[in-house]
Amino acid sequence: MALNLDDYYLPASLQEATELLQRYGAGAMVVAGGTFVHGLEVRGLLTETVALVDISRLGLRGIGASSKGGVSIQALTTLAEVAAAPLIGKNPALAAINDALHYPPRQILNAATVGGCVAAAAPLYDLPAAFLALDGQVQTSLAGRQRSIPLDEFFVGLFESALQRGEIITAIDIPAPAARTASAFLKLETNANDLSLLNVAVRLTLDKAGNCADCRIILGGGVGETYVRATGAEAALRGQAAGEAGFAAAAAAVVDDFEAVEDHRASAAYRRHIAQVYVRRTLATALARLG
Ligand SMILES: Cc1cc2nc3c(=O)[nH]c(=O)nc-3n(C[C@H](O)[C@H](O)[C@H](O)COP(=O)(O)OP(=O)(O)OC[C@H]3O[C@@H](n4cnc5c(N)ncnc54)[C@H](O)[C@@H]3O)c2cc1C
Repeated sequence: MALNLDDYYLPASLQEATELLQRYGAGAMVVAGGTFVHGLEVRGLLTETVALVDISRLGLRGIGASSKGGVSIQALTTLAEVAAAPLIGKNPALAAINDALHYPPRQILNAATVGGCVAAAAPLYDLPAAFLALDGQVQTSLAGRQRSIPLDEFFVGLFESALQRGEIITAIDIPAPAARTASAFLKLETNANDLSLLNVAVRLTLDKAGNCADCRIILGGGVGETYVRATGAEAALRGQAAGEAGFAAAAAAVVDDFEAVEDHRASAAYRRHIAQVYVRRTLATALARLG
């Protein structure tokens, strides 16, 4: 199919970007790092798009402490910049973020942006799973109005998000973690350029006695149209001593939390098996980070 692209814009302000997105409506597409958009283009999937609105000159880049002790990552920050950020790298509670950035190839890390990674709403991507485990919030702007969307409510289907037409992600905020919290992420791929067969992100908070006071377990990859919160596995672990027996209970419960996908890359039975192994391993990694 032919590409109907007529116009390419490089707005210098959010307001200008918004005006362009409103003017072109369904015919406009935002571009940030362009790595996902390029994939759409080469597959002939941009036939409805007549204007690209490149937001890479809007600023919106950098990582800082947010007002309530959390971290705010602006939307146009590249994945490589996140991986290099001391504010994230030194904090065991946020370690799932760095784990997730271990996988994409260097060219993607350098070009892809945090906002694009989330906005694509592709459950095969790694970083959004980590953000979900950390209770992330998506900050957006639409025609001068700002809103905050919990990531829990952001992903509504395959390539479908809660964003309205013309709405731009401005930042991803991660709230301050509770004391005695660590996180971890693990992905199964068939080769270094592969998207996940399955991925798991966890956040673990212990009480003073070493029991699991709270946890988050997120599955991505071959688990359906979007990410899955493994609530059964979380319930099996909450209140248990953090250690092998509790992690095994969570792993046993996780198979009832999702419908494993069966495709040419892996059988559903294999994905169910890997989910159990990876839930145990990511929890053990998070626990080890708590010393
Ligand atoms: C070879 C290759 C290997 C990869 N490997 C991995 C991997 O190992 N792990 C992994 O997780 N991912 C991987 N990816 C996917 C990669 O993470 C995404 O392509 C990337 O994060 C998208 O970000 P971007 O800035 O390039 O987005 P773009 O391509 O610019 O945009 C993506 C989508 O989001 C929209 N958008 C972008 N920014 C905003 C915004 N601020 N507000 C609203 N909408 C916006 C665009 O309109 C588009 O629909 C890989 C991709 C490639 C091509």
